[in-house]
Amino acid sequence: MADEHLEAEVEKDEDVPQLDPEAAARRAAAMSFVRRWGDPVLKSRATPVDRFDETLQQQAQRMAGIMRDAIGVGLAAPQLGISQRLLVYRIGSDAPVITLVNPELEWQSDDDRETLEEGCLSIPTVVVDVERPVHVRVRAQDEHGEERLVEASGLEARVIQHEMDHLDGVLMLDRASRADRKEALRALREQEQADRAA
Ligand SMILES: [Zn+2]
Repeated sequence: MADEHLEAEVEKDEDVPQLDPEAAARRAAAMSFVRRWGDPVLKSRATPVDRFDETLQQQAQRMAGIMRDAIGVGLAAPQLGISQRLLVYRIGSDAPVITLVNPELEWQSDDDRETLEEGCLSIPTVVVDVERPVHVRVRAQDEHGEERLVEASGLEARVIQHEMDHLDGVLMLDRASRADRKEALRALREQEQADRAA
């Protein structure tokens, strides 16, 4: 991977330029739609999409907007409380948004794996090391029902795997080492208590 310091789903703070008040407000508004750790929808297996209609296309557009405003690189429908097998991602701010519907992992590089830090819009402030295959091939549909074959490596492969996990109710914490998970859960509980006290 070219930049080892990029995380899945969330861009690192130092990569996000100081947000002007308008962008910060947009980000806060977008984040208010994102379900957080502890919400049961994030632990549920999402349902396949069978209607490629205007509602689906609007949904994909809305997800792309929220992802962009939240300064994320990926977003899965369950993160908005919608239990459907639909995800969007965008690698780099100038890249087009890719929509994957009903994605199926066709192949992964089992003997070529790497461990990198990941973040998640649903688990803000937490970063954990996750080991994943470097290359994947995924068969999916786009928002119009057209077949789509994606061969991805590096960050793109990692983001796709992270988002596909969301469709199966799997979070990055489930793939972290026991020590990392314990540390992350402790931080999340402390955060919850601080939020309650505030
Ligand atoms: Zn995530």
